[in-house]
Amino acid sequence: MNKYGETALVINCGSSSVKFAILDPKDGRIYLNGLAEAMGLPEARISWKFEGDKEKQKMAIPGGDHAKALDFLVKNILSKDKELLDSIVACGHRIVQGGDIYSEPTLVNDEVEANIAKVIPFAPLHNPAHLQGIRAARKSFPNIPHVVVFDTAFHQTMPPKAYRYAIPEEYYTDLHLRKYGAHGTSHMYISQEAARMMGKKPEEVNLITCHLGNGASVSAVKGGKCVDTSMGLTPLDGLVMGTRCGSIDASVVFFLCERAHKTPKEVEEIFNHKSGLLALSGVSSDMRPICEGYDKGDEKCKLAMDMFCYRLARFIASYYVPLGHVDGIVFAGGIGENSWEVRKLTCELLKEPFGIELDDDLNLKALGRLGYEGGVISKPSSKAKLFMIPTNEELVIARSAMKFVRR
Ligand code: ADP
Repeated sequence: MNKYGETALVINCGSSSVKFAILDPKDGRIYLNGLAEAMGLPEARISWKFEGDKEKQKMAIPGGDHAKALDFLVKNILSKDKELLDSIVACGHRIVQGGDIYSEPTLVNDEVEANIAKVIPFAPLHNPAHLQGIRAARKSFPNIPHVVVFDTAFHQTMPPKAYRYAIPEEYYTDLHLRKYGAHGTSHMYISQEAARMMGKKPEEVNLITCHLGNGASVSAVKGGKCVDTSMGLTPLDGLVMGTRCGSIDASVVFFLCERAHKTPKEVEEIFNHKSGLLALSGVSSDMRPICEGYDKGDEKCKLAMDMFCYRLARFIASYYVPLGHVDGIVFAGGIGENSWEVRKLTCELLKEPFGIELDDDLNLKALGRLGYEGGVISKPSSKAKLFMIPTNEELVIARSAMKFVRR
């Protein structure tokens, strides 16, 4: 009997990184996690931590790519705990974009790989990296099921009135230009957790879920199904984010091209990497220094914070339309879980129109991820319950992968 029981390996490949974790899909206990960074560069390195280790271990893997990182995981890291290696019965891969092809976790085969390649135009940085990760992992772990879990899948239940753009139909039919959304795995997890905390089934509640990290999005979840979300064709749409502008009048693109002589590629770079909190605050794309600046009365940080919360509150308000009534609003992601100020400023804007009442004490206490499973942060009199719930995408991916294990 293996002391770890059955575990799942979860892999999340970015364009220059590989995150990995081995966890117990029953309770989410993490036995090993790690990160390989700067893939393909001379300074490529990998770091990892076994459960119970105080410090991370680190190793340089100069020029190492995704395949090298996974090979290192098997030969140099898991070789130290053969029993843990043997306990892995499934591997789940996080995939940013599944287009309108996938609405469920799917067992990888050659056709699935080809379909992930097909939607590369909608995720040009992520999907090629995911494919590298899948191919390398299938080689390193040949005898277990590999399962892909799509960030877009949860949003596939949106109706056309939410996902279509009001542009000529041929761009939808021929080029598949429509809203796909992102962070679906997180929206699904936090909506199910909120339902559980209310003692209800997901089908019985209407929720607005806010995933607020470096990338940020809001979803309207009606009876367990997504009916609208703030990200669009790509993650550029919607909220103000770390370096992304979010929703913007498309005419700004024409002006930048015509008057500032930017190319479309340059505008894409500006909107994705030089905008958002970074551009507004002039300080950082990271919310922490912006909160500090806001507290000290820095004008630009105040604008960044005000715009972030105003835009968020506007999106939340707009989702009362598809939901009719709202049972709960959930905050998650690095900002949603840690910034009591963002939650407070946002909820203040919703107080008068929707009768939302934040409990200041509970809000202040709801901080950090360590051992805190989240909970209610609203007053009993609030018309909708407010929650802070630490998201756990790895756990969803691990559980999804386990469903494909043949016993
Ligand atoms: P990613 O989208 O990269 O996964 P995270 O979900 O980790 O990002 O969120 C990162 C964001 O969370 C950053 O803007 C960071 O500043 C913010 N954050 C983390 N801790 C705090 C905190 N204590 N107060 C305010 N913001 C925080």
